[in-house]
Formats: sequence, structure tokens, C-alpha cells
Amino acid sequence: MKKFVYSFDEGNKEMKSLLGGKGANLAEMSKIGLPVPSGFTITTEACNKYYEDGKSIDPSIKEMIFSNLDKLEKTTNKKLGDLNNPLLVSVRSGAVISMPGMMDTVLNLGLNDEATEGLGNLTKNPRFAYDSYRRFIQMFGDVVLGISKYKFDNVLDKVKEANGIEDDTELSVENLKEIVNKYKDIVKKETKKGFPQDPKEQLMMAVTAVFESWNNARAIVYRNINEIPHHLGTAVNIQSMVFGNMGESSGTGVAFTRNPSTGEKELFGEFLINAQGEDVVAGIRTPKAISELKDIMPNIYTEFVEVTKILEKHYKDMQDIEFTIENDKLYLLQTRNGKRTAKAAVNIAVEMTNEGLIDKKAALMRLNPQQIDQLLHPTFKLDELEKARRISKGLPASPGAATGKVYFTSEEVVEASRRGEKVILVRIETSPEDIEGMVSAEGILTTRGGMTSHAAVVARGMGKCCVAGCGEIKVDEHNKVFRIDDIEVKEGDFISLDGNSGIVYEGIIETKSAELIGSFGKIMEWADEIRSLKIRTNADTPRDSEVAVNFGAEGIGLCRTEHMFFKENRILAVREMIVAKTKEEREKALNKLLPFQKEDFIGIFEAMESRPVTIRLLDPPLHEFLPHKDEDIKALADELNLDYNGLRETIEDLKEFNPMLGHRGCRLAITYPEIYQMQVRAIIYAAIHVIQEKDIKVEPEIMIPLICHEKELEIIKKLVNETANEIMREENVQLKYKVGTMIEIPRAALTADEIANHAEFFSFGTNDLTQMTFGFSRDDSGKFINEYREKEVFEKDPFARLDQSGVGKLVEMAIKLGRSTRKDIKLGICGEHGGDPDSIDFCHRIGLDYVSCSPFRVPIARLAAAQAVIKNRTDECR
Ligand code: ADP
Ligand code: MG
Ligand code: MG
Repeated sequence: MKKFVYSFDEGNKEMKSLLGGKGANLAEMSKIGLPVPSGFTITTEACNKYYEDGKSIDPSIKEMIFSNLDKLEKTTNKKLGDLNNPLLVSVRSGAVISMPGMMDTVLNLGLNDEATEGLGNLTKNPRFAYDSYRRFIQMFGDVVLGISKYKFDNVLDKVKEANGIEDDTELSVENLKEIVNKYKDIVKKETKKGFPQDPKEQLMMAVTAVFESWNNARAIVYRNINEIPHHLGTAVNIQSMVFGNMGESSGTGVAFTRNPSTGEKELFGEFLINAQGEDVVAGIRTPKAISELKDIMPNIYTEFVEVTKILEKHYKDMQDIEFTIENDKLYLLQTRNGKRTAKAAVNIAVEMTNEGLIDKKAALMRLNPQQIDQLLHPTFKLDELEKARRISKGLPASPGAATGKVYFTSEEVVEASRRGEKVILVRIETSPEDIEGMVSAEGILTTRGGMTSHAAVVARGMGKCCVAGCGEIKVDEHNKVFRIDDIEVKEGDFISLDGNSGIVYEGIIETKSAELIGSFGKIMEWADEIRSLKIRTNADTPRDSEVAVNFGAEGIGLCRTEHMFFKENRILAVREMIVAKTKEEREKALNKLLPFQKEDFIGIFEAMESRPVTIRLLDPPLHEFLPHKDEDIKALADELNLDYNGLRETIEDLKEFNPMLGHRGCRLAITYPEIYQMQVRAIIYAAIHVIQEKDIKVEPEIMIPLICHEKELEIIKKLVNETANEIMREENVQLKYKVGTMIEIPRAALTADEIANHAEFFSFGTNDLTQMTFGFSRDDSGKFINEYREKEVFEKDPFARLDQSGVGKLVEMAIKLGRSTRKDIKLGICGEHGGDPDSIDFCHRIGLDYVSCSPFRVPIARLAAAQAVIKNRTDECR
């Protein structure tokens, strides 16, 4: 017969999945000789069996419970329900992954009318006995019988009021007896039965209730939010009670071995004299700071400090400890690795390494790259966040927190921010035209678009908070208002965005800015020692490049050139180029752009010093650059001296049904080679300039987007070479440069061996590759992707985390094929996945040379790349 019940002396800390975190650690603490009240644990398997058996406890398990109870009675020399020497127990939930406060616990179980009398006689403290009984009835009533707590609280409050009592500890025996009687009346009224007097029946009812609490509403929500699997089940711990409510020499408390918000090495916590555990959390009385225990009970304090040191040494991590003092004796009731802020996590990891408690690798593994993000972006002040009203939820497209006035167009955002207002840009979706508004805004909210939509990608690049694809919101740009159900938010109203959760709030929520702490640099240093993947960045401006270099970027993996086309002084020339009817006209317009592009590249090469820079030639569909409103078309016609109707037709002609699959990327260069020619000229001139004037080493990497056939690349590479050679001849210089391609169309991945004939490097553009492999539009998937996740079609949005079994397979295949043609081909990834820790682990395993991500994700990528090395090393050892 399988073992479903373990006494504390049979378990240890490695048995979490069977005994739950609480049970495993109670066993461990008893094992290392710390004062833990004895008890036993019913396993998580028993909980799962309870559900499999249609919510009933198997008789064999019941038998194991009672035989362990026998043992417990022998060790404690007490008996459950005994009139003279009753054993009291707590029945405590305890999941594998801690879910604080989500499930139920019952204290003081075993009391009934007679045992309470017995307990009073035995301890010569009837007040304590009745205090325990009233607590028990209330807790059992609430947790097991499902009677609302407030019904009991009402009685308690009335008795206190009638007797002019403020503090629970002032209740007399008579008061308590009265309360107990009234509580029993409540139970009778609510359940049509008396309060159960048989302790064994109480025990089984409580165990069942704890099993049931695994699936209470708040526990389910908590698991969903924290991505904890629903099949794990909870264990149940039955533990003999110790009493913090026995008088002035008793008490109870909770403490962290280090400060959980700063990481400082100091005891941090609270306690109450003459109280039981739940009082500290319930906030009925105001607890005292743990440091005060030193004055009130100096010996206990010294002992407790000793215990915290033992526990930290043993677990090699910051501990969150629950303790109770019964008549001047200290007992430990729980320990676990303490939850902490990002700042504390980093500080503690570094300090524990310096103390020699853990090594660098352990320090690195302990940090959660996503949590590290908090250190780089502003966050909301927690107390303010709790009060805020949530109005909707979209995709968490770019982390951070933002609060400001709503404006619906880029121009209005720019104007308002010039007036000194803090602004949130709200759009159905953004396009490259919105760049300036995005720069000026505190945050961006869109109703359409997924994790790799324009808004998401650009916002991440800027390190700016963005919630995308918030489909519930209906934007009425005309009337400058958006609506969700009956909520209406007008231009100038305040909203707040949480880019980490995707939640949109009404009104102002104060933010606090990011604070880079000293130990963060240490962690990055250690990560760099270990990782083998290089980390590059996606950056299109000298400013972004500098930010990225400061965060540790080793090069640019993707420099997009389209945003450069939108700056005020160039868009006209770009439009002139697009609507040109002849090659000559087009070249004339392009010549106007050339000096601008050259300056752009000079700026970037200088900012990157001698680090590698991959520049992607023009990629988006041309019509994105054109005006669409009549008045704008008229203005353009006037400016370019063109006939309005003719221009409108040209623009009409450029419209596409599926622009993402349309005339874009290298296809533009097949039809209009002049565009790429101009860009290559700008790159080569800029490189020569920087080499000659600034003594910076530059070897530009020219990247051709959207290749699906080797012939395309062959033709364009020839164009690039001819253009470059011509300049080198003219200038009489030799310049090294590389020509490579993005692999972002499935056919390119499938024929990577052929493409590698012409490509000196591949950069996996996994945004488009995901879009085209799934057949999901990046710009529309926001509407349904959340439902896909809720219905568990996907565990993760494939635009946020690389789909390893599908898209990843294409990447692996392309790597193999590419190397079979060109052994030393350089391989990287420049999709948004380059900043996702899991995807980075995958990139490491399949042997890419580098990942490239937005500037603000560079530190996360450095950490994740180091973790990938450590993780995969230990996996190999196994
Ligand atoms: P939670 O998981 O919600 O923290 P616990 O099972 O830890 O629930 O119980 C809550 C509190 O009840 C504990 O912090 C402790 O103070 C008190 N408690 C639990 N078991 C006992 C016990 N055997 N003796 C005394 N107090 C206990
Ligand atoms: Mg607890
Ligand atoms: Mg692409």
C-alpha cells in the first residue's frame, strides 16, 4: 500500500512535491534539531486521490491518519478529546509552491465543551482555554462549515462593546464563555446541527476542508496569475498546538532573516504578546517590531536570532519564519525562502556570495530575469496601486508604469508634452508616423496589435511602457473619447498603464523611478564571465545605441532604417520618391535623402565605437509612408507641385490587401533598385567617414530583409557590391563589409543552404517568421491571443516566447543547412524573442552566436544567457 502519511521525522526538505513546502520544511527543521511541535503530513497525492475518488477520502488513508495520530498522542503524552489532558492540533494546508494566504488552516482542533474545561483545569488558566475554544469555533465555522466570519465578529464586537473592552486580551472568562455560547448558536442556526463534539470527526472534516481549499476561487486565481499548475494539489499538516495565547510570557510572530524590500541584513518582522498566529496577519491588534522582542524577552530574542542564523546557513537563502512562544519557550512553525523585491533579490544574492554562503553561479540562478526588469523601469507605488480602479486589460507589450492625460493623436501628444503635461498616447494602432508622439508620451495604449506590433516593438526599443491589443476599449478618435462598457475616458482625462501586467487603470497612480543599485553591476559582471552568447541590441538612433552600450550591448544586431525616413525634414523627400513616376524622378528624390541617411549612420557608428553594426535596408510597405486623408493628400500635392487627382490615384494604387505579405522588403529592391542603392551609398560613405575622421573601426553588416529565394539575394548582393565598389574606387579606399540576410520567411529557412551561397550571415527575424509560420497577423493577433492562452491552446504568446517546437524547428534547420554551405556563417536572432529568457536559453542550446534585443532588455539577456550556460551544464551532468 502506498504511503500517504509521513510523520515529521520521516520527511526532509527535498520532499516538497509530496509533502508540500510547509510539510517538507517542518520535517527538515525537526531533523536538524530545531524546536518544532510534532506532527505529520498527509501528502499531495492524497489530495489528488481525494479528487480522483469523487471527493472522498479513501478508508486506507483515513486509517493511516489515525495511526499517525496515535503516534502523535504517544509522543506528546496527550490525547485528542481527553477530558484531563487533551491534545490540540492545527490542520494546515501546504502546497508545493507557496501560495500565501490562499488556502485554509484550522487551529485549536480537538476542543469541545468537555475538553475545554479539562484544558482550563490542567493549565489552571480557564481564560486561555475558552479563548482557544472561541477561536476554534470561529475558524472551524468559517473554514469547514462555510459560515461567514463576520457573523462571529459581530458577536465578538458586541460583547466587547457591552463591556467597554477594546483589546481581545482584556476579555474575561465570563465574556469568553458568553461568546462561545453565542458562537455555538450561530453554528446551530446555520448548519441545523450542533457544533461537532467528536474530535476525530472534527479532524476528518478539517482535512476535507483543506483539500477543498485547493480549489477555492482565490487559490485558482492565484495559480492562474502565477502560472502554477492546477494538478499539484495541497498537502495537509496535522501538528500539535503550541499556545501563544497563554498570557504575558507567550506570543507569536513572523520574521524575515533579511529585509525583503531592500535586502539589508537585519531581522525584519513583527510579533504580538498573548496571541495566536492569525492575530498578526488579521490586523486586530497592532504588532510590535521584532527588535522590541529584545527588550521584552531578551533570552527568547537571543535564541531566535541564533535560530535564524542556523536556518539561513542551512537553506542558503533568506528565510521567512513563523514562530510562537509558549510560556517562555520558543517554537518554530514554518520556514520558507522569503519573497522579496527585485532590489532585495539582487542585493541578497550578491551579499550571500560575498559572505561565502553561495557561489556566483547560485547567485545568478537565483535571480529571475523578468523580475530584474523592475529595476530598469519605473513602477507604481504599491499602496496607490491597491486603491486604483482597474478598467481593462491588454497585452503587457513593454514593461514599466505610466500615468498621464489621454490624447489620441501623435501631434496632440507632442503639443501637450511641450506644455509640460504628462501624456498617454491612445491609438487604435500605431504606425511609423506616430514616432514623435511615442517619444513624447509617458506610455502608449493601443486597442489592436500583438506583442510584435509596431507599438510594442518601438515602445520596447525606447524602454517605454506600452499596453497593446486592448480590444475591449473602443476608441472614437473623431470625438476624442474611448469607451469600455459604461466607462468613458475623454481627451485630457488621466489614466495609468501597467506595462508588466497589461492592466489599464483609471486616474493618476504615482510612480517611482527605476533605481540602479551597485550590486546589479556585480551580477552583470558575473553573468558576462559565464555566458557564451554575445548580446547585441536593436537600435535605430545614436541615443538608443548609447543606452544599449551602457547596458552592456556588444553590437547592433538590427538597425531599422525606416524610422529615419519619418523625421520632419525628410518625409517630404521620401514621399516624393515613392510617388515618382520615373527612375530619374525617383533618383532625384533619393539624392535629397542621401545626406540625411549618411548622417544617421555616422551617428550610430560613432555611438557604437568599434562594435559590429548590422543595418537592415528598407523593409516596410511603401504606402505606410504616404498620407491617406484628403486634406493631407492635397497638402502633399501642393508641396510637390502635383495634380491632386493624379496623386490620389497613385496612393490608391499603392494600397494592398495584405501589406505584410505585399510589396515590401527586398521586393522593393527588385523593382526599384535605386532605393537600396542610396542606402548602401549612405552606409559606405558613413563608414569611410568614421574610419578616416574618428579612427573608429567599422565593418558594416548590410542586411537584406524578407528574402525567400536565393536569386533575390544574388541580384541584390550584386547591386550592393557594385555600389560599394564604385565608391571605394572613387574615394580610393578599401573597406570591409558583409552582406547577409534575415531568415524570416519559412521558405528561406527551408532553403537556407542555397541562400547561404550568397549570405555571409543570417539573422533570424523571428517576428515575421512566427507570423508566417503560424499564419497569424502580428497586427491583429492581439484580439484573440489572450483567449488562446486562457483556453490553453498556447501556454505563451508565440510572439513573446519563441515557439520552439514549430518556429524553433525551422530555425534549427536553417542553422544546419546554412553551415553545410558556409561553415563559418555568423548566426544571430533579432526578433523580439532575443530578449525573452526562455527563448534565449533555446538560442544558446541551438548554437547561435548572438541574440539581439531592445536596449532595455540587454541586462536581462546577459543574465539569461549566463543562466542558459549553467542550466545546460548541469543538465549534461545528469
Ligand atoms: P498560512 O499558510 O496561511 O500561513 P499556516 O498553516 O502557516 O497558514 O497557519 C497560520 C498560523 O497559524 C501560523 O503562522 C501559526 O502562527 C499558527 N499555527 C499553525 N499551526 C500552529 C500550531 N501547531 N501551534 C500554534 N500555532 C499554529
Ligand atoms: Mg504560514
Ligand atoms: Mg521582418
